[in-house]
Amino acid sequence: MENRIPRGTPVAALLAVLLPLSGTGVHAAKQVGYLPAAKDRPWSDREIELATWSRFRPSALSMTFDDNSTGQFEKALPWMDAVGIRGTFFVIPDRMNADAWNRARVAAANGHEIGSHTLSHLVLAKETAARQEEQLAGSKRVIDSLIPSQKCLTLAYPYGVHDSVTLALTRRYYIAARVVGSYLNSAAPGDMYVVEGRGPEPKMDVHAYNSRLRDADSKGAWLVEMYHGIEDEGSEPIRLDWFRQHLGEIKAQESIVWAAPFVDVAEYIAERQCAQARYLSRSDSKVIINLQDTLPDSIYRQPLGLKIPLPPGWTGAEAEQAGAPMWCVIRMTPQGPCILFEGIPDRGPIVLTRRSGAEMGNTLSGKWDDASGPSSYRIRMTEGSWLSTRILNVKGARVGSGSAPLWPGGSMIDGSNSPYKSVRGVTLSPVRVRYLDINPAVTVR
Ligand SMILES: [Zn+2]
Repeated sequence: MENRIPRGTPVAALLAVLLPLSGTGVHAAKQVGYLPAAKDRPWSDREIELATWSRFRPSALSMTFDDNSTGQFEKALPWMDAVGIRGTFFVIPDRMNADAWNRARVAAANGHEIGSHTLSHLVLAKETAARQEEQLAGSKRVIDSLIPSQKCLTLAYPYGVHDSVTLALTRRYYIAARVVGSYLNSAAPGDMYVVEGRGPEPKMDVHAYNSRLRDADSKGAWLVEMYHGIEDEGSEPIRLDWFRQHLGEIKAQESIVWAAPFVDVAEYIAERQCAQARYLSRSDSKVIINLQDTLPDSIYRQPLGLKIPLPPGWTGAEAEQAGAPMWCVIRMTPQGPCILFEGIPDRGPIVLTRRSGAEMGNTLSGKWDDASGPSSYRIRMTEGSWLSTRILNVKGARVGSGSAPLWPGGSMIDGSNSPYKSVRGVTLSPVRVRYLDINPAVTVR
């Protein structure tokens, strides 16, 4: 909520407030150009698009674990760390000894979320309001005091059970809560305190777990997985080899599935639903955008994805906010070439600076799912070409929501039904290609 901007403020004054650059704000305003009155501008704030999910991935996934079983931390978590996928562990403080707290602390240090599963796992709806509050507030207090590297902000109701009293109290202490459900969550859940978590179903194998990912992708949804036992412990245990295979599938799909802790996704949704982005200034070499929301900045710090049309003449760009480089790519979209980038609401202006394609790097990486072929592949492209991200099945047909690769000044290459894609002398064989993660659709040489 910092940097609230009253409407009608002169741009130089705005920039003086918003630009923590070297020198004075007015000087910076001269450097970045003059902002014409809205009616004279060739652009509109409406063309700034917010990403539904982080980095414009079509779907989101949160892996959640209940009841702090030993296997979750000793068997599942090392494999998650190995592939860099972070999850959420809803723990029960009354059932944790010193070893359990140590495991949770290490997980938190590695970026996993330690959430609350209440103090002692009672059926909350059967308890008095005072006892419910003790369970909800007490668990948060204990977790916050024993794991100070993070904030305990989310909850899983024991057995998924809650009543109206539970909901009212949970809203007081948490930003989101998970129930036991069987559906995907939409990109705009009606109530962040009844987010559905999906556990295993009878006779569910690893393919069924993986197919849920595809289902979420096709629906643009948020899949919240719920795990209890790992291997041979706890209720509804999942085989560790299946868990590992499933992790591999999530990793393989990281360009289309945003895998993140429950709290990260909850924060992202809240920010996206109230954030406003607008241009502060535009020149031939810089575009400056303000992004603000109405949420407490001490909690809501997820970078939001933004997209603007690529300004005329630009072939590359980089983004910076509060002195830190931000994710920024140029990608062909159905609306034409766009700059996709990230910004954190209320953290000051996001500055996009024009760069030549060469400075953005000229190497593209692909990933092949071919047992006999390389697991990664690099190609070099000639100057002025564009390539967008596509998701291909093993037959080379396009699936998911990727756009077709475009060759500006040349021909559209859309090999949906063709076994080969030829890109300026480099032949890409999509036979056995699971997906091609061109990283990202940068200008290349
Ligand atoms: Zn439980």
